[in-house]
This record gives sequence, structure tokens and C-alpha cells, in this order.
Amino acid sequence: MGIPNENNRVLVIGLDGATWDLLDPWIEAGKLPNLAKLANSGCRGKLGSVFPIISLAAWSSFSTGMTPGKHGVFGFQQRNRPDYKSYIPMSTDVKGKWFWETIGMSGKRSIIINVPGTYPPRELNGVLVSGLLATKTVTYPPELADGLALKGYTVDEKGYFNTSKGGFLEDIYGTTDSMAKAGLEFLENEDWDVFVIVFTGTDRIQTCMWEDKAGMLKYFQRMDSIVGEFAEKAGNNTTTFVVSDHGAGRLKRKFFVDTWLKEQGYLKLLKSSDTPVKKAAVFIASFLRTTKLVETIRRVILFFGLRPSSVIRRPTLDIDIANSKAFSSSYYESGVYINRNLVTGNDYEKIRDEIIGKLKSVKDPESGKTVIKNIFKADVLYKNPVSDAPDILIEAAEDYTVAGGMRSALLFEQSVRDTGTHKFDGIFMASGKGIKSGQKIDDISIVDVAPTILRLFGMRSKEMDGKIIEEIFE
Ligand SMILES: [Zn+2]
Repeated sequence: MGIPNENNRVLVIGLDGATWDLLDPWIEAGKLPNLAKLANSGCRGKLGSVFPIISLAAWSSFSTGMTPGKHGVFGFQQRNRPDYKSYIPMSTDVKGKWFWETIGMSGKRSIIINVPGTYPPRELNGVLVSGLLATKTVTYPPELADGLALKGYTVDEKGYFNTSKGGFLEDIYGTTDSMAKAGLEFLENEDWDVFVIVFTGTDRIQTCMWEDKAGMLKYFQRMDSIVGEFAEKAGNNTTTFVVSDHGAGRLKRKFFVDTWLKEQGYLKLLKSSDTPVKKAAVFIASFLRTTKLVETIRRVILFFGLRPSSVIRRPTLDIDIANSKAFSSSYYESGVYINRNLVTGNDYEKIRDEIIGKLKSVKDPESGKTVIKNIFKADVLYKNPVSDAPDILIEAAEDYTVAGGMRSALLFEQSVRDTGTHKFDGIFMASGKGIKSGQKIDDISIVDVAPTILRLFGMRSKEMDGKIIEEIFE
């Protein structure tokens, strides 16, 4: 293994949620020539994600080389101890350096675009354009933001709820193209040693259009030509990685874990929420979703030129946190917190084991299938997890997702709008300078990417949980 080249450059293209399950058949059919070239000319493999399988947690693991147990981001919502208030984790909550910050200390310059978990931006040697959770274009250095916005750079897709399918697609293609254009300008006109750009439209389209394989392929073909352009313009002196934060699969049914915890007696509602009127509202909302009537209503509202989100607001009951033994992280995260103010001493393990045991055996009466594929204790999965970690992490079985929040009267609902969901296995490709060709790599994790990139610059970090993927190097 030689000494890494002084002039080596690293390009990372992130395709949120990309999975070999979709890419391989398309590659074999010759539909994605640029991704095929990158996959076949270098090393490829499945890249394991993290639990919970959520973009913000997984990309933070990509950026830090740490597990969520160490960097402290478990999803879009999590709870703090000791009062269990829900909060949205920002970049300021990330307990660890991003790999480009470490690389920057040796004078190397980075361009980082749209990596989820990088809002607000932190100072670096280079340029950073914040990804999720940014709601507008925010950059380091800050003065770049206005120029980017003027050029039509848009931060993230608006989603599918308030638009027709046509509007959703127009928005997603527009965002992707504006990001690609801005990215290529940086790539060609700025000095850089590390260049990272993440496209999130891939995840969005898989979530909303999983049943429409032709529609997804069309978008991935656009993505393929963008990837090809980046790889070509980056030049021969570059090592190129294409990675995803997790994979994807079909979604049919949602399991409401907070509704289940309430049924089992672990979760209590606030008195103000425990009224017949509020419960009836939640019941009607569940009924509308189960019968798919909500989708018809949404289309009617769109037809009249209104925003469905301002009319259809799903009622949610408030949890009496102080008097509940267990509750989820919040909206759709697959984590359960045990209230350690209420459940103390030996009771803690007893209650936790009891909940895990019961959850493992939950079956969907409609299909007869088990709903949970894997369930973990956070402190077994992650060594010494940070104090805000959920106590239990859940991986849903095929066709299912685990949803939180007291917003369903039923334990299960048909998934109306989302037909795709996150799966554990993402993608990994490495090619170009210093990389072996035609190698298949197994047993690698998203936490391994950062230490592997550091290795290309002859650096190591003791803080990181991941390992260097040595097999890829010539
Ligand atoms: Zn993702």
C-alpha cells in the first residue's frame, strides 16, 4: 500500500436512499451508463446504514465517521434528558468533527454542498452550502448565499402533499438541476481537494413514487448524466465515491408505536387531549386514511387551487410525558424512550425487556405478518451512547414503517401517500486514482467512509468509530 499522493483529490457524490435493488437491474439493462462505469471500473458494495435508518442520523455518520450513539443525531426529532422535550437536532448538536474539518486543518480545501445535517454551517477551509434542515440557501462564507439564490439555487424539494404529481416532478427536477449547475460551477471554478455533493431528490422520488418504476428510472437517468458530468469534470487526479445513506424498499403499512404503547398501558394522554371530541377527530382522520378518502379530498383541494396542508391537518393527541413510562422520539422515528424519571432501578431493564419482547411479537392482523425485523437496546448497539439516545431502536419489517405520535386511533394504517421507505443497505462505489478495479466489497458501513477519505490524505482520527476500507486501495 503506497503513500497517498500529495495532489490527490476526492469527489463524493451522495445519492440519498439509492439502492442496488433498483440500480443493478437498470445498470444491467444499460440504462445508467455513467453509474455503470463507476461501479464496474472500481470497487462496489452494499453500504450498511445506521439505526434509526433516517437521513439526518445517517449523513451525520457519513460526515463524522461516528455512530449516532456518539455524534448524537438520531433523526429529525429526538428528546432531551431529563425532561424528554422534543427537539430538532442541528449541526450545533453534532458531537464530533466533520471529516472535511479534520482534513482542512492540514490546509486542504473543501467544497461541501447539501449534506443533510450541516445546518447551520460551521466554519471551514472552503465553502459549505447547508443541506437539510436549511429552509433557505445558507452558506459558509455567508456572503455566497445571495449569489447562489440569484442563480436559482433551491435548497430542497417542497414535497408532494401540496402539489399534483406533475408539480412534484417539476419541483424535484428543478431543484436537482439547479443544484447540479451550482455544484459544477464550484467544481470547475474553485480550488478544492475534497468535493462533496448530496442529491436528496433520489430519496424523495423513491418515497413518493415507489410504485412508478418508469417514473423513478427517468429521474435516475437524469441523475446518471449529472454523476457522469461531475466525474468527468473532476478529472483523472481524483478518487470518486458514490454513496447513499441507506437503501429503500416498498412501503404498504404503518405501525403506530405510540398508539400501541398507550394500549399496553405505558403511555398516558394529557387530560386536555383525553376527551371524546379529540379522540373522535383522530378516529375520523384514521378512517379517512385507511379508506384512502384523504387522497380524494387532497386532490379536490388542489383542484380548487388551495394548499391541502392548510386544510387537512391531522389531529394529534398530546402525550402526558411526565406520567408516561415510554413514548417514541416523535413523528416517524423508530426510537422509543423509557422515562427514567419514572422507571428507576431494576424496573428500568425489566420494563425495557418487557416492551422489546412484546414489540417483537406484534403482528399485523391484516397480513398476519410480524411488523418488526430487528429491535436493539441503544447501549448494546452503541457503546456509551449520548444521554439523548432513545432506549430502544426499531427496524421495521418489509412493507412496514414504524411511526410515532398519537395521531392514529388504529395500530395500523395503509400508507396512502408514501409508497417507499428506508432500508438498511445503501450503496458504495469507489473508483479512479489509487483504487482497485472490479472488486466487490462486503461488510462496510457508512461510518467507514470518513476514515477511508482521511486515509487518502494520509490522516487518521481516533475519534471515529468507522474503519478504513483498506480493500479498495491498490
Ligand atoms: Zn436519506
